[in-house]
Amino acid sequence: MEAAKEIVLYGAKMAEKGFVAATDGNLSVRLPANEGFLATPTGLPKDELAPESLSRLAQDGAIVSGSPSSEWPMHMAIYRGRPDVGAVVHAHPPFATALACANVALDQPFLSEVVMSLGPVPLVPFELPSTEKLAREVAAAISGHNGALLANHGAVTVGQDLRTAYYRMETLEQAARIFLYAKLLGGGRALPEEAISRLRELGKGHGIAPLPAPACSNCPVASGEDGIYLKRDELQRMLADFARLAGNGQFR
Ligand code: 13P
Ligand code: ZN
Repeated sequence: MEAAKEIVLYGAKMAEKGFVAATDGNLSVRLPANEGFLATPTGLPKDELAPESLSRLAQDGAIVSGSPSSEWPMHMAIYRGRPDVGAVVHAHPPFATALACANVALDQPFLSEVVMSLGPVPLVPFELPSTEKLAREVAAAISGHNGALLANHGAVTVGQDLRTAYYRMETLEQAARIFLYAKLLGGGRALPEEAISRLRELGKGHGIAPLPAPACSNCPVASGEDGIYLKRDELQRMLADFARLAGNGQFR
């Protein structure tokens, strides 16, 4: 799929899944043949993107057209440090961001899927959004990981293509949610050591493959996917429990 259409598709998915509110988040793609990058514009809701609203960046990160995301320095720093990365996704998914606000990294190997496809997710200490300092810190974390939590802010994931980077964000959010529930149940135990190397082996080739050709060119967003949604009052209740347990020191 053409890069601009892909950004529109996964921007809409990000909004639909509740990973962003209002104008939160940004996505970018490295274009083939050293033709630079495409990025979402600053200040536009991710379900209002259109191919012509995207910003074009040169190979050195300079703006060619449009007004790129205020986090473009972070995206560019990641691309500079990881030539294998073809796409970057930044969002504020509620569960991952809750962990980031509580200064909790997702770096314990407790979920098989996370070990196989995402890997450990470190926590980047707080830096002001859109700054070069944040860009440097996130790029350093991403140099050895596929995702990072940004303290008091959100999350970043990367992949060889946008589909992979986007689904890593889904995996990260789901893992954060499961981690939180497991903690509320008093658990969240790490996988046994011997299972981890076996899972990593199983995970090779378990990356997200390119989308098959669409059956219908008028179907922009796949439907019927599984999703678990919390009602507002359920989330509030759960976060209140979380805050109470954290206050009791039960999250150490
Ligand atoms: P932009 O609208 O500039 O992309 O900013 C959104 C965001 O999430 C900043 O961290
Ligand atoms: Zn942000």
